[in-house]
Amino acid sequence: MTAHLAVTDGIAVITLDNPPVNGLGLATRRALTAALGAAQADPAVKAIVITGAGNAFSGGADIKEFGSPIALQEPNLLSVILALEAATKPIVAAVHSVCMGGGLELALGCHYRLAAPGCKVALPEVKLGLLPGAGGTQRLPRALGVEAALNMIVSGESVNSELLMQVPGQQLFQRMADSPVTLLAQALAFAAEVASLRPLPLVRHLPAQHPQGDAYFQFARNMVGSMAKNFPAPLKCVDAVEAATQRKFDDGMRLERDTFLNLMWTPESRALRHLFMAERSASKVPDVPANTAQRAINSVAIIGAGTMGGGIAMNFLNAGLPVKMLEMKQEALDRGIATIRKNYEAQVKKGKLKQDKYEQRMAQLSTTLSYDDLKDADLVIEAVFEELSVKQAVFKELDRVLKPGAILASNTSTLDVNQIAAFTQRPQDVLGTHFFSPANVMKLLEVVRGTQTAPDVLVTVMALAKRIKKTAVVSGVCDGFIGNRMIEQYGRQAGFLLDEGCTPAQVDAAMEAFGFAMGPFRMSDLAGNDIGWAIRKRRYVEKPDMKYSKTADLLCEMGRFGQKTGAGWYDYVPGKRDAIVNAEVVKMIEDHRAALGLTPRKISDEEIVQRLVFSLVNEAAHILEEGIANKASDIDVVYIFGYGFPVYRGGPLNYANEVGLFNVVQAMQRFAQNPLDDARFWQPAPLLARLASEGQTF
Ligand code: NAD
Repeated sequence: MTAHLAVTDGIAVITLDNPPVNGLGLATRRALTAALGAAQADPAVKAIVITGAGNAFSGGADIKEFGSPIALQEPNLLSVILALEAATKPIVAAVHSVCMGGGLELALGCHYRLAAPGCKVALPEVKLGLLPGAGGTQRLPRALGVEAALNMIVSGESVNSELLMQVPGQQLFQRMADSPVTLLAQALAFAAEVASLRPLPLVRHLPAQHPQGDAYFQFARNMVGSMAKNFPAPLKCVDAVEAATQRKFDDGMRLERDTFLNLMWTPESRALRHLFMAERSASKVPDVPANTAQRAINSVAIIGAGTMGGGIAMNFLNAGLPVKMLEMKQEALDRGIATIRKNYEAQVKKGKLKQDKYEQRMAQLSTTLSYDDLKDADLVIEAVFEELSVKQAVFKELDRVLKPGAILASNTSTLDVNQIAAFTQRPQDVLGTHFFSPANVMKLLEVVRGTQTAPDVLVTVMALAKRIKKTAVVSGVCDGFIGNRMIEQYGRQAGFLLDEGCTPAQVDAAMEAFGFAMGPFRMSDLAGNDIGWAIRKRRYVEKPDMKYSKTADLLCEMGRFGQKTGAGWYDYVPGKRDAIVNAEVVKMIEDHRAALGLTPRKISDEEIVQRLVFSLVNEAAHILEEGIANKASDIDVVYIFGYGFPVYRGGPLNYANEVGLFNVVQAMQRFAQNPLDDARFWQPAPLLARLASEGQTF
């Protein structure tokens, strides 16, 4: 049973018991309703306490039911709350640890609420593009006050129970328990005390008013509107809270319900819910049991203290793990350590890191020039130059000194992890950990699984990723792994667009209007145009019949490598990110077009977006089909967390699903007719063609 009833001394205690967070799925709602009915019917019961087992009062709706009809199946949460309100015996909610979403709405339907200190209280629905749908927008303003309630509903952030107790005039919690340990005893005493008090107080009967009335809501709309640009839910939260101040309770409830159901159908909410599930499932690897025993990781060594090595080291130091860095020369170590210090000091200056924490972290960092010092490391991450011969030398040394069972990882972005593994006598212990730059900031980690990587090595690294607060996705071995393999096609399309008539600024503006943090040319300027150049030079040899625009090469020949040289597709003023259009670059593109004998045509923003985004989609379908990615949602996670794909569109494959795969394929077939484009690339990947013809989604 997911809720139990126990009666002692005239008080019934109903305990929600649905691990991990007492989610209010159908079974729990049924069990709770049954327990409530039994307590109501039992003449020995004078009052009722509702609490949660384990580490939560309730985390709210059961995520497995999201968006499915089961969430609405009776008794739905609204009906459960109505049943609480209709009870003829007083009900005390004893909340602790986590009281969120539907859990808080449930508590607000009780007559009294008692909180344990340290309880995290929130209505986080807005983070899924929704608003609270079981009375939260109507009851919280009445119980807590309009302004504090609106802040919670619009932000979705959790607030500690102690802080909420201090809100003037609040009726959210009548009392605070001394500690989570005494909560239940104090709840029983509270229930006994109020057992014979009548009438029973209901939050719905409290007034909800803001002294500034309309002016306050106008102000709130301005604030929320400018912050929530692409998301409809936050403004709808304001509407619903305003309704709580203007309408009768039941009318406000109707508005909340209608709005909730409408939001549920918006693409933005679908995208956010998709990403929520996608992020959770990213760590699950289909053919590796979740209960596979992990290897212990208590110390980390990093080879190479350059750009990536330093950033990677910071992740582990932040998580409290000791890190040893190895370089060939002392000067390189000194430089690497100085950069780490500089980064931490900037955080201290901004007040983001306490001085003592900074010192603790640096105390965990040590350096060496000798591989023999690494013999005790549990995990070694290599981040040396991107050259196979250098990697070979490093992995041979690691194989010589490391203890059995140590994990050997490479941060390579383009080399073959299987080849690197073969440099050792223990390929089962080798895998890739592809961090993104800046490695201490970017959330994405591609974990590259070699053909021989042992399952326990994989689960260990996936779990470690969580410890260092990364979102990790498993990729198979291929050139560019998931993310960079896709971006190569995107970059190629961006080049064709220039040849056909676009300017870099036009392409960037179209992609930024679509929602990307940066268009392809600004992004390339940030990453360094020389990186793409090096990759293309390799491609010209490996795949001589692959079509490319030459403008990016011409740009590099002009020495315009991007922000680091102050000049790329755009000009940059030192210290500023503004991209300034450069006439020479525009002329170079025009001259090149003329040399090819092309007449520029006007290209719509829609075509720009479709060609760039669908190029990602088609390559992603190949990646999925080849088993490089385990699931479509993993690819969306890569693009959201590593490449600035607009969150409200849920990733390239979620977006393709929204557009409809049939339409995506139709567009590809149109692009294939364009003689200046690459007809072969635009043949829909077999997986995509099949899904589209069957009317399915990724
Ligand atoms: P970097 O040039 O900044 O740093 C490399 C460091 O390795 C240098 O400090 C160098 O002294 C040291 N080194 C070279 N050979 C060594 C050896 N034999 N033993 C010990 N130390 C040695 O390079 P980076 O940008 O940090 O890249 C490192 C790795 O990470 C490469 O494989 C690269 O492809 C990959 N990577 C880079 C990025 C990025 O954006 N820079 C992103 C993802 C992955």
